[in-house]
Amino acid sequence: MRATPTLSIVIPVYNEQEGLSLFLDAARPAVAQALALVGPDVRAEYLFVDDGSSDRTGDILAILARLNPDIRYLTLSRNFGKEAALAAGIDHATGDAVIPIDVDLQDPPEVIVAMVRAWLGGAQVVNARRADRSSDGWFKRWSAHGFYRLLNRLSDYPIPENVGDFRLLDRQAVDVIKQLGEQARFNKGLFSWIGFRIATVDYVRAARGSGTTKWRLGRLWSLAIDGITASTTMPLRIWSYIGGGIALLAFAYAAFLVAHTMITGIDVPGYASIMIAVLGLGGLNLLSLGIVGEYLGRVAREVRQRPLYVVAHQSSPQPAAAAALAVTPLHTARASQG
Ligand code: UDP
Ligand code: MG
Repeated sequence: MRATPTLSIVIPVYNEQEGLSLFLDAARPAVAQALALVGPDVRAEYLFVDDGSSDRTGDILAILARLNPDIRYLTLSRNFGKEAALAAGIDHATGDAVIPIDVDLQDPPEVIVAMVRAWLGGAQVVNARRADRSSDGWFKRWSAHGFYRLLNRLSDYPIPENVGDFRLLDRQAVDVIKQLGEQARFNKGLFSWIGFRIATVDYVRAARGSGTTKWRLGRLWSLAIDGITASTTMPLRIWSYIGGGIALLAFAYAAFLVAHTMITGIDVPGYASIMIAVLGLGGLNLLSLGIVGEYLGRVAREVRQRPLYVVAHQSSPQPAAAAALAVTPLHTARASQG
């Protein structure tokens, strides 16, 4: 039995007390099937990241970890958000391949089998693409679609639509991601930025197994802004073009005005055109200032160099022997202790 697990299943959880055992019941058979593809003598670890839950999630995780040698958990000191929780999980995962997955069973665990198959076939990153999002409301679908179109227009590297955080990352890819210490975390963008040999498997996104979504509209909006500002500086450049275009028009108009005044003399009317110019340019100024501010705010956050998350405590590391015991049939374990 190797000391390190083959698969690390990383599960960020925030107030998911009902979801934990439902998730394990559904994930265990799929993970076992995936491990069987890899070979004998391999194991998986389940690494839960408790993202500052206020319900009984933490207590349940402690019990689960005590009873199951393949379950570990980290407890963050407060709610840092899914992106940071996932980063914490990826940092602490020890497997040869790491699979982030949501606890609510919207990422069907069966897909793990196909992912591992693609990994064994040589892929280093295996994306899971939602073939159908009919379980999400129309607004989320429509806004997500629009967002990805915009993002891909702007971004320097393609960020696939309908691919969430659910994917398989091999050790080499994980080690690169661990070096990216960005504060404004947009995992989907980071996962795409790293490159490597990529494969894609398709699945149908189910409705939530239990509990309710933890994303409020405001959070999704800031994730979208993080996504754009973390993946591209195009919006900054667009404003130089717009500014340049308007400046050219203004010069042309000024030249026209000078010529016009010289020929026909001064005339008073022109209130409307002045107001339009003042208001229009004022609005554009504020908008471009806001966009510069978005980037500047992120620069300030990066400069502070705070850690992405704070781990309050974690399950005690399993000694290798105990981990081995967990998968050895009881009678052989007794005999070897004997
Ligand atoms: N989550 C988290 N921290 C948060 C919000 C969510 O760790 O602040 C976890 C949550 O417990 C779940 C996953 O992230 O395992 C996805 O959350 P959710 O299902 O609410 O998002 P959605 O599927 O609606 O995008
Ligand atoms: Mg969900």
